[in-house]
Amino acid sequence: KADLAMYRSKDTGRNAYYFYDEAMNNDAEEHLLLRNGLRLAIERGELVLHYQPQMDIRSGRMVGVEALLRWQSPTFGLVEPGRFIPVAEDSGLIVPIGAWVLEQACRQARAWQDDGLPALTVAVNLSAVQFRRDDVEATVDQALERSGLPPHCLELELTESILLQDVEQVLALVQRLRQRGMHFSIDDFGTGYSSLAYLKRLDIDKLKIDRSFVHDLDQTADAAAIVEAIVEMAHKLGLRTIAEGVESPELLDRLRDIGCDEAQGYLHARPMPAQDFSRYLHAHFHNSARAAQPA
Ligand code: C2E
Ligand code: MG
Ligand code: MG
Ligand code: MG
Repeated sequence: KADLAMYRSKDTGRNAYYFYDEAMNNDAEEHLLLRNGLRLAIERGELVLHYQPQMDIRSGRMVGVEALLRWQSPTFGLVEPGRFIPVAEDSGLIVPIGAWVLEQACRQARAWQDDGLPALTVAVNLSAVQFRRDDVEATVDQALERSGLPPHCLELELTESILLQDVEQVLALVQRLRQRGMHFSIDDFGTGYSSLAYLKRLDIDKLKIDRSFVHDLDQTADAAAIVEAIVEMAHKLGLRTIAEGVESPELLDRLRDIGCDEAQGYLHARPMPAQDFSRYLHAHFHNSARAAQPA
């Protein structure tokens, strides 16, 4: 039910009218509830990371792992990042949450190394808002220092939207972190604003091909053309490519034919809690060590 409401405009200081309906009201209410819950989520230990493997397509070996955030809320249950990351970004809570994610992911990656597993790169998603509101360099350094993870084992996933801010500042920051050995990738590549000129100047290692293109790869010629073009361009620029959302063996075959380097998706594993991922890791490296032994 739509209602006409009045508010005093911040800009003009005058009264103004706006429509709001119940759906909007509910959205606003949910936003508020999520925000208030999130505020306490870190200290109450309600944030958890799930982990999903990244596989080298040619060798079939795991080369990396992406850390994906979930919120185990007493009120809402297990909340997906799509629902609460935007709230965290709007409220600025993404700064402490992002710092927690970085440190937790680095600690976990270090723990797996200490457990005798081959060194994997752990990929952490960074929000463009973190670049705007946080001293990302200090936050990253702190996470590495506290965890003892070598910088070359950390990969930061940026989105193209990062290039909408002060580009020179972002380029300089990425370069400084790269000099310390960290890796960078562009997430959801192909969906956002991206200037090839900046892309070339941005000192990154990898493009993550958005799963919308990967999904349609075997259905439409257009999607296949896009994936082929991205892989070819990336290789010419000296970048690796990883396909997101690889759900079937057929898709993996297509990607191998196209020359895509890595794959990530439900075909190999869904994102899972750290404990489950530890078991997965042990099984994977046990099996690949056995496969490598001469018969
Ligand atoms: P993303 O970084 O592009 O992560 C990949 C998403 O695809 C994940 O969703 C993952 O669960 C999902 N996925 C993986 N394989 C498949 C597949 O085969 N099929 C399908 N349909 N989906 C697959 P998730 O975990 O819900 O995360 C959604 C987004 O939330 C992420 O997209 C990322 O943008 C954001 N996010 C997650 N964790 C963090 C975080 O710690 N910080 C920030 N700033 N953003 C995060
Ligand atoms: Mg990502
Ligand atoms: Mg992605
Ligand atoms: Mg995506």
